[in-house]
Amino acid sequence: MIKPIELVIFDCDGVLVDSEVIAARVQMRLGAELGWPLTLPEVVEHFIGRSGAANHAVVAERLGTATADRWRERFVKLHAEAVDAELEPVAGIREALAGIAALALPTCVASSGGHDKMRHTLGRTGLYDHFAGRIFSATEVERGKPAPDLFLHAARSMGADPAACVVVEDSLPGVQAARAAGMRALGYAGGLTPAERLAGPDTVVFDDMRKLPGLIDGHQG
Ligand SMILES: [Mg+2]
Repeated sequence: MIKPIELVIFDCDGVLVDSEVIAARVQMRLGAELGWPLTLPEVVEHFIGRSGAANHAVVAERLGTATADRWRERFVKLHAEAVDAELEPVAGIREALAGIAALALPTCVASSGGHDKMRHTLGRTGLYDHFAGRIFSATEVERGKPAPDLFLHAARSMGADPAACVVVEDSLPGVQAARAAGMRALGYAGGLTPAERLAGPDTVVFDDMRKLPGLIDGHQG
């Protein structure tokens, strides 16, 4: 029997804030500058939805540790500048959060990004206060997405059974992490990762954030 939902876990980048397009553009610029020219699909494959440590490791394997250090330093600076200049919430997310609040379901955030970055991106888009005190980062666990550690940590901290959690994700490592944690996944395909990459067992794919409360309510039956 499918358990009713006790907790909705939101990814941050690409689900709450429209930051993946910014991150991808910065990664492509750094690749061109530092010796690893990348197409957009290659950036999505290698970088998007993964932790800063995982991103550093993939660059270090290719270009060595010193260049990876430089890459990370430049990324943090350029990403923060672009966030200040242009970051917006994901289209329809405010309506979606209001609809989920009307269902009286607890929510939290579980992101591959660090707390400083989330304070910046969620703060800039006016979403930080909605989740304050219920924000979890891959920096708090040993293994980032696609490992289940972060989602299990979030569920434990929120007092929810993993089988009663639903995860909203926009990246392949994210939906893989949800499945590995024994959670249902809702794959948001309105961003960089195509719907067919998100599809899989226990995963419903959707592309309009305004439909989220209805999809979650559908899991309650
Ligand atoms: Mg994401």
